[in-house]
Amino acid sequence: MEIGARASAKQERNTQSSVSIHDGDAWSRISVRLAKLIGEDAFQRWFGAAKWVGTENGEGAITVPGEIHQVWIETNYLPELVMAAGEACEGLHHVKISIAATADVTSEFSTEAAASAVQLRTELPGEILEKRAKAAGLNPGYTFKNFVVGNNSQFAHAACEAVATKSGVGYNPLFIHGGSGLGKTHLMHAIGQEILRRRPDTRVIYLTCEKFTNEFIEAIRKGDIEKFRRRYRSSDVLLIDDVQFLAGKERSQEEFFHTFNTLLDGRHQVVLTSDRPACEIKSIEPRLISRFECGLAVELQPPQLETRTAILKKKALEWKVTVDESVINFLAEKIRSNVRRLEGALVRVATFASLAGESVTVEKVEYLLRDFIQEEASRQVTIDGIQRAVAETFDVRMADMISRRRPASIAFPRQIAMYLSRSMTHNSLMEIGESFGGRDHGTVIHACKKVKQELVKQPGLRERVERIECQLKR
Ligand code: ADP
Ligand code: MG
Repeated sequence: MEIGARASAKQERNTQSSVSIHDGDAWSRISVRLAKLIGEDAFQRWFGAAKWVGTENGEGAITVPGEIHQVWIETNYLPELVMAAGEACEGLHHVKISIAATADVTSEFSTEAAASAVQLRTELPGEILEKRAKAAGLNPGYTFKNFVVGNNSQFAHAACEAVATKSGVGYNPLFIHGGSGLGKTHLMHAIGQEILRRRPDTRVIYLTCEKFTNEFIEAIRKGDIEKFRRRYRSSDVLLIDDVQFLAGKERSQEEFFHTFNTLLDGRHQVVLTSDRPACEIKSIEPRLISRFECGLAVELQPPQLETRTAILKKKALEWKVTVDESVINFLAEKIRSNVRRLEGALVRVATFASLAGESVTVEKVEYLLRDFIQEEASRQVTIDGIQRAVAETFDVRMADMISRRRPASIAFPRQIAMYLSRSMTHNSLMEIGESFGGRDHGTVIHACKKVKQELVKQPGLRERVERIECQLKR
C-alpha cells in the first residue's frame, strides 16, 4: 500500500471548529459495535488511541495519532466504522478521520498499530523516514548500503545487520570496538536506520556517551532527573557511541548501569561502541564491564588494500568526483591506518582537482599529501614495533626475538611476534623470517599455525595477544 502518497494528500490537521455537536457517549457506543465487527484485537490496535471529536451534518469525526492510522483505517475499516457509527447514532452516515493536532513526528508511529502496519510490509515514505532518523539522532548518510564490507569488517557488519533485522536476538548488548575512523559510528547509525526502515514505530535513540554524560549532569543540575531517566529508559533501541568516555566518571557510570539494566531486562536492544575492548577501558566499574561483555563483542580491524580501494571508489562515486584509477590505487596503498584518513585524503585530492580545474596525477598527489603520507608511515605497525611489544608483555629480551635459543619461554613469544607480524604488517613471509634472525618462511608458517591453535585453546593467551594488538594500533 502506498501510504505516503495518500496520507500526505489527506493530511489535514483537525480543529474542533469543524464540528459542532459533542457527544461524549457516542464513541463508546460506536466502539462496542465496531469491536464486534472487526474484532477486539484490530479495534485496540487501530482505534485504541482514536478520539471522538463530534458530529456535524450527519458526519462524525475522529482523530487518530498518525498518518498510518488514518490511511489504514480508511483503506481497511471505513465501511465497518460507518456502519457502527450509523447503528450507534441515528442519522450518522459518514465518519471523517483526521490526524490529531498534537501528533508529531516522534509519537506518530509509536503505537502497536504502526507495528502491525509494518508487519504487513508497508514502508514509510522516504522523507518521513528521514525525519524520524534525524529525530533519533541518526545521520542519513551512514547506512548499510554505503558501508563497504571487507575482511576487516565482515563479522562486525554481519552482527550489526543481524541486530537490525532482529535475527541477532542474543546479541544484546552488541559491543562494537576498534580503532578510530574504522566505521564504528557508521555501523551504529546504519543499525538505527535499518531498524526504523523495517519497524518505524521503534523508539530508537542514538547519542554519544559524552552527550549522555552531559545531559545527565544537566538533569541533576536542573532537578529533572526523572525526565532524563524516562527518556532513555523508555527507548526500544539505545545506541551509545564511544563508551570509553565513561572512564573515571563514577556517577555517570552508575546512571548508565541502571539505564542499561532496565533496557536489557525489558529485552530492549543496546548497542555500544568503544575504541578498545571493554576489558581495557580503564577506571570503569567491573560490574559495568561485565554488563558490556554479556552480549556479543565484535571488532573492526583496519581495512586491507582491496577494501581501501573499494572504499575510495565508492566515496568518489558518492561525492561525484572523478579520480584517476592510478590515484585511487596510490591513495589506497599509502593511507592504511583508517577510513577517516582515507576519506580526508580523497577530499584533499578532489578539492585540489576542482580548484585547479585539472585532473591530478600521482606525482601531484604525492606532493599534495606529503604530510599525510609521512604521518601514515609513522603510524604503521612494524615488525620491530611488534617484537618490542611482545618482548615487553612476555618479559623476554629484545635480543631473544632474533636469537637461535629455543627454550619454550622464549620460543613461544617469538612465535607470537611472528604471528602478529604476519597479521598486522604487509611484510612477506620471507621478510618476516629475515627479521627474526634469518629464519625461513616455513618457520613463520609453522609459528602462525601453532599460535592460532593456542589462541583457540587458551582464552587467557588470546586476551594478552589482543591487548598487544590494540596497543600497537593506537
Ligand atoms: P569510528 O566511529 O570508528 O571512529 P566512523 O564510523 O566515524 O569511524 O568512520 C569514519 C568515516 O569513514 C565515516 O565517514 C564513515 O562513513 C567512513 N567509513 C568507515 N568505514 C567505512 C566503510 N567500511 N565503508 C564506507 N565508509 C566507511
Ligand atoms: Mg565514532
